[in-house]
Amino acid sequence: MQVRNILLKQDEMPRQWYNILADIKLNPPLGPDGNPVKPEDLAPVFPMNLIEQEVSSERWIDIPEEVLNIYAIWRPSPLVRAYGLEKALGTPAKIYYKNESVSPPGSHKPNTSVPQAYYNKVFGIKKITTETGAGQWGSALSFACAQFGIECKVFMVRVSFDQKPYRKSMMEMWGGKCVASPSTETKAGRDALARDPDTPGSLGIAISEAIEAAVSDQTGQTRYSLGSVLNHVMLHQTIIGLEAKKQLEMVGDYPDIIIGCAGGGSNFAGLAFPFVLDKMNGKQIEIYPVEPAACPTLTRAPFVYDHGDTAGYTPLLPMHSLGHAFVPPPIHTGGLRYHGMSPTVSQLVAEGLFEPKSVSQLDALKTGITVARTEGIIPAPETTHALAYVIQEAEKAKQESKEKVILFNWSGHGLLDLGSYDKYFTGSLENYILSDDVLAESEKIFANYPKPQLLKSR
Ligand SMILES: *Cc1c(COP(=O)(O)O)cnc(C)c1O
Repeated sequence: MQVRNILLKQDEMPRQWYNILADIKLNPPLGPDGNPVKPEDLAPVFPMNLIEQEVSSERWIDIPEEVLNIYAIWRPSPLVRAYGLEKALGTPAKIYYKNESVSPPGSHKPNTSVPQAYYNKVFGIKKITTETGAGQWGSALSFACAQFGIECKVFMVRVSFDQKPYRKSMMEMWGGKCVASPSTETKAGRDALARDPDTPGSLGIAISEAIEAAVSDQTGQTRYSLGSVLNHVMLHQTIIGLEAKKQLEMVGDYPDIIIGCAGGGSNFAGLAFPFVLDKMNGKQIEIYPVEPAACPTLTRAPFVYDHGDTAGYTPLLPMHSLGHAFVPPPIHTGGLRYHGMSPTVSQLVAEGLFEPKSVSQLDALKTGITVARTEGIIPAPETTHALAYVIQEAEKAKQESKEKVILFNWSGHGLLDLGSYDKYFTGSLENYILSDDVLAESEKIFANYPKPQLLKSR
């Protein structure tokens, strides 16, 4: 029998997260006065224990016992050898994936929602606000808040709210409250509606709403939570790559190629970061974040200082960005419709350690259907972007007759995204490729912004 699932025992789960800030240099986030942000400036937005993690440069950070106990509902996640896909492609490459679809909400996101809810609880917070694109983050945070008895309020990007009604049901199942964004509940939402009453919404707008709702709460016991982009989110996600490394060791393999889809960068970073130090120390690994061609943050947008949200409430972050006013086309991969990118991932792209790629949504979904038939799991539309590039590399390995080891992250399942596949089957799904004019227009916003330095970590 082929061993498809390479499994760690529960007590072999890693007990520490890997913090890449110990090994790379980053431009600091800047406040409204143009100076680096101080931890206390962030105190109205996040609990101090998470702010400490955000700025920590300790290489290894202990995972609290309470968090491990909840991770144990679905972790360690399987490392799967994709025999079905390998056979269908006739490739000599060995293809492995981390199956992050096995968590209760169905994606990698609870790897960070659980510790975030835990640290908020420890800090005495009673309610957390957040935004969600496709609804995966909102459901992951609702799930985590339910574990710790915290209230959860979610601003969900309008287009996804309409396309994916069952995500809202999932949030409600776990006690979360969900409204469509832009909403009339916040100034940021009302302003966005005044600019365009028919706006599909964007993550940037929804983030502004959620931050505003947190900081304007008079009780002082509400904070905001972000599901990607920030350093502490990347930190929590490294459990993926740390497990994968152990699992590959069990079968005597090491990746030649690492691939993940990238929206804000967290599932990709979670898989890739634990291998970056090896690469810096001379290991030959090719590492590829893959994004939608309709929202080409890493492949076509500049490395700049920009706000993480549309209203400009967040500090300026050093990142690849399409501009905080950019409203991405309403593609079917809500989780990848974000104007910016994690500063840590952006920094490593700027240093040439990661090589970003983009694929169109039709190619991505088509690949998702092929892979569902060979591997069985129905992938999230986000994951299909990674899959499309995995197939390109597997075919290259075939042409070169090389037994490459390809490792990728299966970031989530698509059981609540069947509407998108349905559109594909009925031929009503289109590709969106951004024109250079639209890009140039949205980049004008950076004209008077400070520029990040080109730092070299090694
Ligand atoms: C949210 C999400 C993504 C994109 O977010 P990242 O922070 O880039 O990982 C990708 N896949 C799935 C299934 C998601 O839910």
